[in-house]
Amino acid sequence: MEKNKCIFLDRDGTINVYKGLISRPEEIELIDEVAQAIRLINESDYLCIVVSNQPGVAKNLCTLDEMNKINDRLRELLSLQGAYLDDIFICPHHPEKGYPGENPEFKINCVCRKPNTGMIDTAKLKYNIDLSKSYIIGDSTIDIQTGINCNIKTILVKTGLAGLDKKFDVCADYVVENLLEAVKIVLK
Ligand SMILES: [Zn+2]
Repeated sequence: MEKNKCIFLDRDGTINVYKGLISRPEEIELIDEVAQAIRLINESDYLCIVVSNQPGVAKNLCTLDEMNKINDRLRELLSLQGAYLDDIFICPHHPEKGYPGENPEFKINCVCRKPNTGMIDTAKLKYNIDLSKSYIIGDSTIDIQTGINCNIKTILVKTGLAGLDKKFDVCADYVVENLLEAVKIVLK
């Protein structure tokens, strides 16, 4: 069977407006032209899968159930504009223990927190994805480092953090203004 191609997307700052850690569904607000960008992916032969670090669960800002409701709200806003996500993977963990009020069950060193490759490895198995034909698009150097660690092509968008988090000293394969421009590069 032929393998699938995938465009992996970061969530906050790439799809929805960056507001720090999001802990309520009402905080999800789509960035301009994002629904159009995701519709283009939906009409192509690429899967569209979100991979997102959400340490707010480990920090007890919200529960896993509330995190699922936030993702439901994202799917709802996209569907109102005719776009959909094939899947959403989140890492609810955070490695630094010892904060008041934290959720110790999720305070672990995990393999899924980007720039670790766990979420993309899991997606690869679940959807039979050929990573050599896939891309990751995100607004932070963490997303670009994740792509490098998975050996997939990387696109940095200048929405959200616009790569200014400077957590990793990395160069993306492409740097563009927003998700729509990024998707057009992949599909051209
Ligand atoms: Zn994790």
